[in-house]
Amino acid sequence: MDKKLTAKILQNVENLRDEIVKAVSDVVKIKSVTPEFGWEPEVSSGGESEVTRYTKTIFDKMGIENELYEKEKGRANLCARYKGAGGGRSLLFNGHVDVVPPGDLDEWDGEDPFSGRVDEKFIYGRGSVDMKGGNIAAIFALKALQQAGIHTKGDIVFQNVVGEECKVNEIGTTACLEKGYTADAAIVCEPTCSENDPFMIHVASVGVLEMKWSVKGKSCHVGLRGEVIRDGGGGMDVGVDAFEKGMIVYNALKELERQWGQTKAHPLYKAGQFCINAATVKGGVSPSVVPPDIEMSYAITYPPQESASGIQKEIELCVHNACQNDPWLREKPPEITWLFDWPPFNTDLKEDICSILQQTARMICPEAGRFNGFEAVCDASFLQEKGIPAVVLGPGYGKYAHSVAERVPISQLIDAAKIYALTMVSWCGIA
Ligand SMILES: [Zn+2]
Repeated sequence: MDKKLTAKILQNVENLRDEIVKAVSDVVKIKSVTPEFGWEPEVSSGGESEVTRYTKTIFDKMGIENELYEKEKGRANLCARYKGAGGGRSLLFNGHVDVVPPGDLDEWDGEDPFSGRVDEKFIYGRGSVDMKGGNIAAIFALKALQQAGIHTKGDIVFQNVVGEECKVNEIGTTACLEKGYTADAAIVCEPTCSENDPFMIHVASVGVLEMKWSVKGKSCHVGLRGEVIRDGGGGMDVGVDAFEKGMIVYNALKELERQWGQTKAHPLYKAGQFCINAATVKGGVSPSVVPPDIEMSYAITYPPQESASGIQKEIELCVHNACQNDPWLREKPPEITWLFDWPPFNTDLKEDICSILQQTARMICPEAGRFNGFEAVCDASFLQEKGIPAVVLGPGYGKYAHSVAERVPISQLIDAAKIYALTMVSWCGIA
């Protein structure tokens, strides 16, 4: 990349600092809590669209073709396309505008969760790091190129989407892709910094499956419990303790989880990352009754290279096998219900976008650009689902996401905008 031009781009980003800070602060003030959470519906409804209407005005001023696109009424995504001169690769910047609820206000220590407060180092408030900061940085990266008089060959596409925090991608990211806002590669602008690892590049994420199983026993009065549990008693003819039977299933899944620590691996994850987490339990009637039922729910975290259907088969087989040694469960097997799947993504490191983004990130920050597997999930999965090689890189510490201390460092917003700008040039080419 031409040194003089690079310097000019970076200087332009620096010059945009105040505009970037103001825009991030402004959108953090908008209470765009995902409506699915049900948090103060009269406040949060329409919040997402208020954010995208705000970013629309920035694109309008920049003279970039854009539209508010509502797949669901009242929840507008912002899609924009900067037309390249032709003959280059296109690049998509994706990010969500919805945020999680602020949680317990007392824990915010007197801070208004939607203050958008700015001091020398940070912008504070829900959504600052996850991930309004990243979205704004990407838009201003393009502005810095425009001001440098650069016209790229490839198109630069933006999606500011709704509903990510509750995985309603069919009205957010997936809808925007189906509307035609696609590209040859994508960067999701979620926060990827940690103290010792600035600007990691997530090239994979876990998948998350949720399920529940229920076991039915046979209720009887607690006075008959002796008959139920003792050798020589009436046994199953009198009653069956559902908790006791449920523990057979619980222990089998716990043992499978232990085995996963040895058998499920991915080069970007620590051993033991992939888990079968028992999350909730309910059952029983009253102290006077041998419990007739138990239900447990789980969140299952699985490796990027595996599929939900494979994991489901493995879990079902494990439960089935565990039940074969028990006369009651053999006849009345647990009912398993699959509730939710957030698929993983797994981008091949040989994809050009990986090496190009690593190079540009290291031009700004020498320690940046470590390839990493994301321990949670994001919309990159739905980009990959449509065949787009996707990576995640953005400003801010992931640990502040969804926390009461949420904030984004201003220096990282500026660095992110610089990385994005250089990547636009490097990937899309200059006309
Ligand atoms: Zn996020």
